[in-house]
Amino acid sequence: MVSKKEMKKIARERIDILFQQAEEIFDVESSLSDRYVEIARNIGMKYNVSIPKEFRRRICRNCKSFLVPGSNCRIRLNSKKKQKIVTCQKCGDVKRYPY
Ligand SMILES: [Zn+2]
Repeated sequence: MVSKKEMKKIARERIDILFQQAEEIFDVESSLSDRYVEIARNIGMKYNVSIPKEFRRRICRNCKSFLVPGSNCRIRLNSKKKQKIVTCQKCGDVKRYPY
């Protein structure tokens, strides 16, 4: 019998691996990256595990695409506001993060 804590640990590891794979496969087949991200999100929901912040920022909150800077998203820094502005080039969604 696997404990709940153990299950969450496994879920987190799987999410980690899926994001690594999404990164690796992107150049070959970007739609697969989106698929991996979707699976990772489903695992997160199923096991009530939150996606780590650094991964969450790689997903477009609007079209759920896996974002790769210089490829399908643009990153700009606003030094005045200390903001990082991420634009998804697939759907045009703009996100702002403090940095
Ligand atoms: Zn998008």
